[in-house]
Amino acid sequence: MYMRNGRVFQAAFRGVQRAIEEKAREYGVPVIYVDPKNTSRLCPVHGSKIVYGDESRIGKCERGGEIWHRDVAAVWNLLLKACASAGCPLSWRPSSHRVSCRASP
Ligand SMILES: [Zn+2]
Repeated sequence: MYMRNGRVFQAAFRGVQRAIEEKAREYGVPVIYVDPKNTSRLCPVHGSKIVYGDESRIGKCERGGEIWHRDVAAVWNLLLKACASAGCPLSWRPSSHRVSCRASP
């Protein structure tokens, strides 16, 4: 949902969502819906809070001290949530920054 000048552009969001659903269906790719809540606030490796400076999109994990871009942390957490909800076993090795999924084609 995008907000601009106090106006909600939910119709535009739905249009993008429908386009993604159609393209995924066309290629036989499953679509998994996840709650995006806190996906950029929590470290995908440690599950701890990422502390961001004022107006900054770069933050530091409270536990491990590693640096995260807000969008990168969010997409990793979205992937982890999607795999968890789909029952897909996902392993995460922070040292190599590699993720493997036994259910992948
Ligand atoms: Zn961390």
